[in-house]
Amino acid sequence: MTIHFDRRQVHDDLHSPSAPPILDSSMRRAVEHKHAAQTLIAWDELRERAHEIKAYSIEHLDELLVRFEREFIARGGRVLWTQTADEAASRFLDICRAHGARSVVKGKSMVSEELELNARLTAAGIDPVETDLGEYIVQLAGERPSHIIAPAIHMSRQDVGSLFERKLKVDYTDDPEALSEIARLRLRQRYLDAGVGMTGANFGIAETGTVVVVENEGNGGLSAQAPPVQIVVMGIEKVIPTLDDLIVFLQLLARSGTGQKMSTYVHHFLGPVDGRAMYCIFVDAGRTDLLADPVARESLYCIRCGACLNVCPIYRRVGGGAYGWVYPGPIGSVITPSMVGVEDAGELPFASTLCGACAAECPVKIDLPHLLVHERSRSVDEGAASSPLENAAVSSWARAMSSSRGYSFAVLAARVGGAVSSMLPWISPAARAWSKERSMPKVASMTFKDWWRER
Ligand code: SF4
Repeated sequence: MTIHFDRRQVHDDLHSPSAPPILDSSMRRAVEHKHAAQTLIAWDELRERAHEIKAYSIEHLDELLVRFEREFIARGGRVLWTQTADEAASRFLDICRAHGARSVVKGKSMVSEELELNARLTAAGIDPVETDLGEYIVQLAGERPSHIIAPAIHMSRQDVGSLFERKLKVDYTDDPEALSEIARLRLRQRYLDAGVGMTGANFGIAETGTVVVVENEGNGGLSAQAPPVQIVVMGIEKVIPTLDDLIVFLQLLARSGTGQKMSTYVHHFLGPVDGRAMYCIFVDAGRTDLLADPVARESLYCIRCGACLNVCPIYRRVGGGAYGWVYPGPIGSVITPSMVGVEDAGELPFASTLCGACAAECPVKIDLPHLLVHERSRSVDEGAASSPLENAAVSSWARAMSSSRGYSFAVLAARVGGAVSSMLPWISPAARAWSKERSMPKVASMTFKDWWRER
């Protein structure tokens, strides 16, 4: 798995005076809509309840998954369990081949991005098409989604107009309605021609074996129902116990994601109908590693609403592409190391100011800053994010603190260093850059030890 997070590039983007705040106004609007929508309900009580339900679900995941499987099979569906993203993609291809599918229509699914499903299908001679408008746009552009629920948020309508002109050979327009109509007309026939329709799942209901898909465009419903075969690709953490629990999440999800009181469509898929086939591929791909970690486990409560991205000062400034893999923003920085490996994720957990805005907005009350610090510690312990300068400073500090003589010498050195640092022409560029926006704390004129001795 390759991830392309470049801490230095992100640093440069953040500090470049000429860089436009690309997402700031869109994000600000999203947050305003969310806040307006959440004042109309008992927001804090719902968040608390959602946290409890998710905590219960994750603690009882083994039982709930088995219950879901039993109910889903009883309704005529088939369940496949996969440990890795590769394995999940291979099972998906097997099903397509078994049904002779030459093309696949896809509803929006972040898990399918983990599987790199479009590339895998294309390589196997099967033509995939994204049907969510934002996903369709980024697929045409050959890019990754840059936001969990708004995949093309980094593009202007002029960008989309030029893209459609270039790729679809239509006259240029930047009118959003006209652009939507162009996409709609292109996609309509694809639903009818496809051999397989794929959807993700927002929730799996254990007591009934229901797959719940929440969306606004109607494309998820068409992708699921128009082709003769439906494949649901679902992360194992999506299962919750009951339909009553679902009501809690439906109130939170739309408000947190788009500021709507309710999403336009909430599909309940209850097994195949009319002789069609329905499969559910459960994907682990690092989730059991998160489950095994008593701290990181909380990240499995995530309902992928995107609210933590909208308020994150880093995400707002650098955009989703800078995070280098499928999940951007604070939640991405927390779960990616377990999904791609701590070493490959490198310094990603450091892409945060730890300001806490994400935790304040999260509808399931995930303590994201705490989880980010936990992931930072893992990445340092496993040597994925170590800086020789930082390591040297910390080990010198440890040495100085371990003996009285070392401590006295450190105090003396700090006094001298503090007094002369501004005059040193040879100070390294890195240290100069660090001190440009920070001032060194002044060393007290008397140490506690001296004060104690003299009293
Ligand atoms: S961590 Fe919370 S705020 Fe962020 S996407 Fe997940 S549920 Fe939404």
